[in-house]
Amino acid sequence: MRFSRVTVPTLKEKPAEAQIPSHELLLRAGMMRAVAAGIYTMLPLGALALQRVEDIVRREMNAAGALEVVLPTLHPADPWMKSGRWHQYGPEMMRLGDRQGRDFCLGPTAEELITEAVAKTAPSYRDLPVNLYQIQTKFRDETRPRFGLIRGREFRMKDAYSFHVDEGDLDRTYDRMRQAYSSVARGCSLPVRVVEAVTGLIGGDVSHEFMVVSGIGEDVLVYCGDCDYGADAELESHSPGGMFGGTEAAAPQEVHTPGLVSVEEVASFLGTGPASVTKCVLYVAGGEAVAVFVPGYREVSETKLARVLGTDEFHPMREDEREKFPAVTAGYTGPVGLEGVRTVFDLEIAGARGLICGANRPDYHLGGVEEGRDFAAEPAFDVATAVQGDACVRCGGELRIARGIEIGHIFKLGVKYSEAMGASFTDRDGKDKPMIMGTYGIGTSRILATVVEQHHDDGGIKWPVSVAPLPVEVLVISPGRREQAEAAERLTRALAGRGMEILVDDREASPGVKFNDADLVGLPLQVVIGKKLDSDGTVDLKVRYTGERRAVRVELAVEEIERALEEAP
Ligand SMILES: [Zn+2]
Repeated sequence: MRFSRVTVPTLKEKPAEAQIPSHELLLRAGMMRAVAAGIYTMLPLGALALQRVEDIVRREMNAAGALEVVLPTLHPADPWMKSGRWHQYGPEMMRLGDRQGRDFCLGPTAEELITEAVAKTAPSYRDLPVNLYQIQTKFRDETRPRFGLIRGREFRMKDAYSFHVDEGDLDRTYDRMRQAYSSVARGCSLPVRVVEAVTGLIGGDVSHEFMVVSGIGEDVLVYCGDCDYGADAELESHSPGGMFGGTEAAAPQEVHTPGLVSVEEVASFLGTGPASVTKCVLYVAGGEAVAVFVPGYREVSETKLARVLGTDEFHPMREDEREKFPAVTAGYTGPVGLEGVRTVFDLEIAGARGLICGANRPDYHLGGVEEGRDFAAEPAFDVATAVQGDACVRCGGELRIARGIEIGHIFKLGVKYSEAMGASFTDRDGKDKPMIMGTYGIGTSRILATVVEQHHDDGGIKWPVSVAPLPVEVLVISPGRREQAEAAERLTRALAGRGMEILVDDREASPGVKFNDADLVGLPLQVVIGKKLDSDGTVDLKVRYTGERRAVRVELAVEEIERALEEAP
């Protein structure tokens, strides 16, 4: 492949729309171009890199026993109506009509179509399990498409669906797919954390996300530095910290705290820190006020609270609702003597002493409050978010909180879709039963961007060999000189003979431009054919990842390239 402005249209300047390195570099390195918000054309090198990622995914899926299928991207509304998601999906679903006015959508995922397809085969227990996958373009009309390929409206994804006779059988496939996803991440040189996750609109009871820790990540995860425990920040469990509490007193004392309502204001006014202030957040659930108490240095996790309340139909109490609930005093609600209100306490409050709480009258707090003596923290649940340094529930190690990019998500669905869509199998006893399902998604275009996000420097992309669009770029410094042109030609043919396609920069451009572009495009190896070919018969070999550079004799270049590629990251 020749480096021309058409094939690899590199850009010198950072494009205005790029907010993160991978977005900027994929554009500047001439790998892709924007078509509309969240929609991209992949140019030759970008398309090759995407292909490499998808090859790795395909290899791991096949090794896990999944079979490749191709479903349409254009879905009729009917199966989506049956599952109930035609309405649940809302504006994120790209909808359109045909000339007869029938409703269609561009598939955001394919549980409905695949469930219908498998159900139509009228399987018996002997036909199961079956695990089918496709690598396909998906569509989601994101509110805020951004970060290039990280959050697009049209994107590439591998989605797989498995069908089983029972939970045990699903568990086996689920574990196998979990391992396969970790292998995909390793194959793409992405360090990944597997975390317990929220199931959301897809449904099901158990799900895991595959997260790459990154400052630009849109999700927050909590993971243990010592074991493999990890969870979505909304779902994590931490051991109660035991750091909650302050100066003890024989009895609660009322303190005047005029106009001070936030934990920080109260703490600093009383010359202490949030570690001794009880935070109260008021919610309304089912027309009833709920006072949730957590340590002042934590937040209420609404996902955890939903589990405690058994519903996600609740909201923080609005100002205009306050007069309906005279038992609570906005900004000054405390647990001592609080009546006529449903209370929920975080586990960490149990046994805490020397607390500062709202006094249940405006402009007053209580100090020196003790749980057990002045109020009972009942019922107590894990309803607060973790903070850096909390203890792991599994091993006691230190929990870390980080932002992450979600590259994959797997779910145990159970019978959610098979029941809704009448997808059953005939069991040994001759009875029809709903198939038990799993679903497994991994974003291939998002992986591509994440690889660039994780592997770059100021000069450009540093492709790991496994996903590099091409392994080698040959820079011909003076393409007008016959010796150099011929050496490049011979090297290209020799490598092609070994099944290796390369990129050749034979443009009439200054060496500086070529060196900069080679670093920007970031292929793992650079071979510089220049003056030294005439003087001592050598070419320079540069490993992009490490910057290491050495001269090799031109006749040994092929062997040296192969060896260097084996050693490169
Ligand atoms: Zn741990």
